[in-house]
Amino acid sequence: AKQVPLIIIGGGPIGLACALAAQRQGLDYLILEKGCLVNSLYRYPLNMTFFSTSERLEIGGIPFVSNNAKPTRPEALEYYRRVALSKEVKIHLFEKAESIKANGEGYTVVTNKNSYSAKNIIIATGFYDIPNLLNIPGENLPKVTHYYKDPHFYATQKVIVIGANNSAVDAALETYRKGADVTMVIREGEIGKRVKYWVKPDIENRVKECSIKAYFHSVLTNIHETEADILTPEGVVTIPNDFVIAATGYQPDFSFLERTGITLSEDAVRSPAYNPETMETNLPGVYLAGVVCGGMNTHIWFIENSREHADRIIGHIVK
Ligand code: FAD
Repeated sequence: AKQVPLIIIGGGPIGLACALAAQRQGLDYLILEKGCLVNSLYRYPLNMTFFSTSERLEIGGIPFVSNNAKPTRPEALEYYRRVALSKEVKIHLFEKAESIKANGEGYTVVTNKNSYSAKNIIIATGFYDIPNLLNIPGENLPKVTHYYKDPHFYATQKVIVIGANNSAVDAALETYRKGADVTMVIREGEIGKRVKYWVKPDIENRVKECSIKAYFHSVLTNIHETEADILTPEGVVTIPNDFVIAATGYQPDFSFLERTGITLSEDAVRSPAYNPETMETNLPGVYLAGVVCGGMNTHIWFIENSREHADRIIGHIVK
């Protein structure tokens, strides 16, 4: 196995922030990223606008210039790519970490391509790889997606959007504006409170005027080739349907954390165990950084409040 003092798993914004912090302290490291650079952001909806202003997405103190206060996905890709390339961040792309095992002096990380021996490991794997499933019949039909990308595809089609948070609302409004016939199915009684404040009135008004239909206190129970069943407070309603966009959120790879030996809380949140002052887990020398820390509570960590994990971890390692 190749020797590296620090392996960072995940080349998202926070993995990159950790790399920059390590560079500043003269600590050698390597990032392993299973996809492309900032893979999660790359896979976000094409036209997505961040809810954070650009300076709050900055890492390593490098200015993020965007045209408007809130940057778009393409601007964020531009920014993180320029940072990674100009700082010559050491990263192996398309290399997936498959296991982490203690080896006496530290840990062995086995990937799909290689194996590494490292004293310290940072897990910054985010939560965008595993969608929260509906677990209903028809979910596996090709017309169902958990990763909405682009509205043009849905022009003239009958689209169901499940959920009431930012991803659902963005998908509903974008597809509606490109000529889709949109129905939202919402478990709660209202549009989510965390929906971007400048978007919320837009969706609420489209629902009020019925240009976007919404079933509140309702869940999808069955998806068929050309129809879908919705359980509403008035009973089951079956509507014609071409596509389903399930914006039901995502979850960290709990199985990877468990196999590594990181303790998860026994409640539904499944919070991984870590010391908030150092971000070290119950395994000495293994740290968590970024949004993976929240367990099922994926809304509490984002870039702007988790980028500071980087300095905390590197500070602890070099001490
Ligand atoms: P990620 O960016 O998810 O990076 C994790 C990386 O780890 C990924 O690139 C993944 O491919 C890689 N990986 C996973 N498993 C492995 C493995 N086994 N081996 C190797 N690599 C692996 N936050 C904000 O602050 N502001 C916003 O406006 C904002 N908008 C958002 C909009 C959407 C649609 C979503 C889904 C999230 C948004 N967030 C926002 C949250 C934001 O995604 C995260 O804060 C950010 O991506 C977290 O960075 P991260 O580095 O912790 O995780």
